[in-house]
Amino acid sequence: MSENGDHSGAATASPEIRDITVIGAGPVGLITAFWAGMREASARIIDSLPEIGGQLTTLYPEKWIFDVPGYPRVLAKDLVEQLRRQSLEQFDVPVLLETTAHKVTYEPDPTDPEREVIRLETDAGDLLTRTVVIAGGHGAFEPKRLPGFDMTPWEGRGAHYLVGEKAAFAGKKVVIVGGGDSACDWVVNLLDTADTITLVHRREEFRAHEATVAEVRAAAAAGQVDLRTPYEIKRIEGNGQIERITLSRADDEGDEVELSCDVVLLQLGFKTALGPLKEWPLEIQKGAIVVDALMKTSMEGVWAAGDITTFDGKLKLIATGFAESAIAVAQAVHHIRPDMRLQPKYSTNTGVPGSVEGEA
Ligand SMILES: Cc1cc2nc3c(=O)[nH]c(=O)nc-3n(C[C@H](O)[C@H](O)[C@H](O)COP(=O)(O)OP(=O)(O)OC[C@H]3O[C@@H](n4cnc5c(N)ncnc54)[C@H](O)[C@@H]3O)c2cc1C
Repeated sequence: MSENGDHSGAATASPEIRDITVIGAGPVGLITAFWAGMREASARIIDSLPEIGGQLTTLYPEKWIFDVPGYPRVLAKDLVEQLRRQSLEQFDVPVLLETTAHKVTYEPDPTDPEREVIRLETDAGDLLTRTVVIAGGHGAFEPKRLPGFDMTPWEGRGAHYLVGEKAAFAGKKVVIVGGGDSACDWVVNLLDTADTITLVHRREEFRAHEATVAEVRAAAAAGQVDLRTPYEIKRIEGNGQIERITLSRADDEGDEVELSCDVVLLQLGFKTALGPLKEWPLEIQKGAIVVDALMKTSMEGVWAAGDITTFDGKLKLIATGFAESAIAVAQAVHHIRPDMRLQPKYSTNTGVPGSVEGEA
């Protein structure tokens, strides 16, 4: 929900001061709002994208995740839904979508001039907050384009960079381009959906997880996948929609093959950018925000969690992001109310503060 109570994301700025403003509605941002609620701190979330879920929603909604504790396996989109229920349904957390955090300034707290509040300049106007937890992932991400081939005329006509719903590929002749994890993952994931799958890569070798490459090669050996390496796209033809694709060998242009094709799925990786956060006085290393063991950034009142952080031993995993976020929230809450203990009480004893009557 946006601050004024709708889901549109086009909210007007609220003069209300929230305890914690979370930048990013990825899995870590969502759970940050939950930890805040458990500590009876008011939170809000903002995200530049039109939907919650971060990378899980944008990059791999239909993929299984096997390493989130408590779930032997869970589809990325289902994990987002569980997080939405856990965080946004149990607590009053306004979510401002299509809202990017641009600038940050400090000013006296109108309710207590001894203290400071943070003013965030966003697309939805200025927001006041006592603390910020940045869960911005890789920042804004955009798919890499195919070098040396203009795909734009076919975008929206069969050329895709993302898989939203697998169903959109049902019964289609799909050509997947790329040699990394996502290209190989989608070959495996679409085996039960697409009519035919061709994997095109301009090198012989793949840069993907060994086990996935083995699955791809086994599927090719079983005749389920047409493996074309080292090949590149030479031509695409069709009447309004992609109908045919011509590939040529990377090391012998004269060696061409023409295939019937409905969909070209480009999986060439993503460019990521910290965007406006780069201008904040944060210590940045290799595109990530440096935090200490308390998830504290170099800015007063600002913590960070999830993929956006860097520290010794950092793991970019959902599970570790959840834990970083619990630490960040404990610190933020303690900063706002120093009399509050860092260690939360066990939820088995407290229930969910403000939960539905009878459940606590
Ligand atoms: C194909 C793939 C498969 C993966 N599989 C697994 C897996 O099996 N297990 C696992 O643990 N991890 C996996 N990961 C990694 C996992 O997705 C990330 O660790 C996780 O998404 C990090 O969550 P996050 O909330 O920190 O960031 P993100 O999910 O990146 O979300 C960050 C959000 O912040 C928003 N944002 C950024 N800057 C701003 C700003 N200035 N203002 C407003 N909003 C902003 C972005 O729009 C985004 O929505 C996978 C990743 C990929 C790409």
